[in-house]
Amino acid sequence: MKKTVLNFYFQLTTMEDLIKNMNSVLEQNNSYMTYFIASYLLEDHPERVAIFKNSKHLALPHGYKHFNLRECSENLALREIVKAKEIFEASGLESWCFRAPYARNTFSNLGKNKFYQVLYETGYNCSSSELKNSPPWKLINYKIPEFVIGGPRDDQIIDKSGIWDVKIIAKKFIRLILNTKGSLLIFDMHPIRMGQKRFLPALDAICKFANKDPNSILIDFKTAVNSYQEGQNENFICITGDIDTWTYFDYIKRLK
Ligand SMILES: [Zn+2]
Repeated sequence: MKKTVLNFYFQLTTMEDLIKNMNSVLEQNNSYMTYFIASYLLEDHPERVAIFKNSKHLALPHGYKHFNLRECSENLALREIVKAKEIFEASGLESWCFRAPYARNTFSNLGKNKFYQVLYETGYNCSSSELKNSPPWKLINYKIPEFVIGGPRDDQIIDKSGIWDVKIIAKKFIRLILNTKGSLLIFDMHPIRMGQKRFLPALDAICKFANKDPNSILIDFKTAVNSYQEGQNENFICITGDIDTWTYFDYIKRLK
């Protein structure tokens, strides 16, 4: 597993190109990407911010330094949530939804209620942080709505299970879609992995299936959360992608 991870972090494709790759697959299937980005990557990087301005593909906050809220102090956990939004706002980007790093929507000793209370007080409208490995994938109402991520995720399939065959990867996601009805299925696909040329056919197959399946609609995250209704017949399928590191240098910086 370690070898696989190293391969990814030493990869030669730039993050800019990985994003372009995913954007173009979604566009070919008449939809758009939503990226959840650790905001330290945008701090002092107007050229990175520019990618998401005037773009139909959306960027939203994914923590500040990508610390696990469950494992850090309360102060650092607060900083992850508050500073993430501040940097997005200062950059002129939308910041209405938060995704917790590592999908950990709980503070170390203070639990989930504190997490949603802080999001509410910081001015977020919703969260997409909780990972659920089995259906039903519906929104959960805490203090603010939680749009759950449908698992498994690409890192679980590719890194942990070591599955690199794009047909098998696509099948795993398509099986999830077939196993649910009227769900809001939000997939988390990391550009660092799924944006690579070798995995793009899997992404394309999933999008094509969602567009062909009479019970599903491929839709961008923002439109989906604004129009999803409990009890609807069709699945909404959204492709989101987390960006935790931009370059190998960022990866080292984050560990400090
Ligand atoms: Zn992340």
